[in-house]
Amino acid sequence: MYDGRAMRAELITVGDELCRGEIVNTNASWLAAALWDLEVTVEHIITCGDLVAPMRACIENAAQRSDLVFVSGGLGPTMDDLTVDVMAEIARQRAVIHEPSAERMRTRFASAGIALVDNATRQVRCLQGSRVYDNPAGLAPAFEIQLGNALVICLPGPPRELHAIFDTHLRARVGELLQARGEESDHIARKIFRVFGRGESQIATALEGLRMEEGASLHYQVKFPETLVKLVLRHRDATVAQARLDAMCVEVEARLDGLIYGYDGDSLPAVLVRKLIDKGQSIACAESCTGGMVASLITAIPGSSACFMGACVTYSNAEKVRQLGVSEATLAAHGAVSEEVVLEMAIGVRERVGVDWGVSVSGIAGPDGGSVDKPVGTVWIAVAGPGGQRHAKKYNWPGARDQVRRLAAHWALNMVRRQLVATLESEE
Ligand code: ATP
Ligand code: MG
Repeated sequence: MYDGRAMRAELITVGDELCRGEIVNTNASWLAAALWDLEVTVEHIITCGDLVAPMRACIENAAQRSDLVFVSGGLGPTMDDLTVDVMAEIARQRAVIHEPSAERMRTRFASAGIALVDNATRQVRCLQGSRVYDNPAGLAPAFEIQLGNALVICLPGPPRELHAIFDTHLRARVGELLQARGEESDHIARKIFRVFGRGESQIATALEGLRMEEGASLHYQVKFPETLVKLVLRHRDATVAQARLDAMCVEVEARLDGLIYGYDGDSLPAVLVRKLIDKGQSIACAESCTGGMVASLITAIPGSSACFMGACVTYSNAEKVRQLGVSEATLAAHGAVSEEVVLEMAIGVRERVGVDWGVSVSGIAGPDGGSVDKPVGTVWIAVAGPGGQRHAKKYNWPGARDQVRRLAAHWALNMVRRQLVATLESEE
């Protein structure tokens, strides 16, 4: 039943570790983003410790002012896991064992040869009369129960489990709830453009005056070191929504020409790995100030072994000479952070590992080690390619050591990606 106002959602994240600042509350940000994607507005995010009275107050308060409440954490087996007991008290329902989850737990423990201790069953409980959602990534199931006018959904705290339950069951469930309220009569078409190499304000300037179709909205999200441009289009008819979105996408592409490296769930390393594999080419890297971060980003991508052959982390001048064949004379004449050295590093790793593409990074990440000529944040990146490509560029970023290193690693990936795209285009 649609009562004329948008659904109001609230998140309650439970855990002493959160209140003590020992862990970062990623469940709150992940759930809020997932709900925003479904066009549900989160009005409150509350965190409370593993204590009965505060938990009870938070949940009761939320149920009074919100339509949909998510509670994360406190569903485990230990005595500080109190969510089921607190919910039982508030809802005046009995806590019961969820037999399918209990059975799964017994099977899992038996096959791992682990004895089942008494309190293990605490984590497979739910409330009598609740709607239960299986946990595809763990033991504790999630459950949903009506409290007055609010629907309360309790989820386990470990992020992997929370994501799995939301992806498997709750995204569709929220869609159903919206539909029942008459809110989802609009279809939503969306596209995320992943932009690297320009700041939010520069992107916004490039998109200024973009012709907005009816029902369209544009959102920016900085996700260091990249920026996401999200285009959303709502219309009653799904085909119209998609057609209008497609029309706008053409213009966004044209205005951000060369800056968009991917779409939706892409990542810079994943796009590079895909392009290299498509082309049947290989890569290796020579890293100084990034200390292996470029290699780490590439190898985080499943299947990267088809294109990534190896890396040399050459922090000292001696290792640049020994592992990569950089000439001592070049180092003496120009210093380690220079166009000449970074090119010799890229060429050296390309030849010595025997790959199509060599990429190298050498810079001053700080906070010390800068000079007037080469201030902190000065980074040289070079690429050597199979068609004789030799490209080097100097960057200078303000910021702390960690930021400089992360920027350098991503710009290195982006430089190879751009060289690869340019090669592909020139071959067409
Ligand atoms: P468990 O069986 O592990 O006790 P649980 O459902 O009781 O699960 P919690 O005890 O709240 O959940 O959290 C378990 C672990 O999950 C925590 O130690 C923490 O590492 C992680 N975690 C919990 N809540 C969050 C959160 N809001 N953001 C990020 N990580 C979290
Ligand atoms: Mg716990």
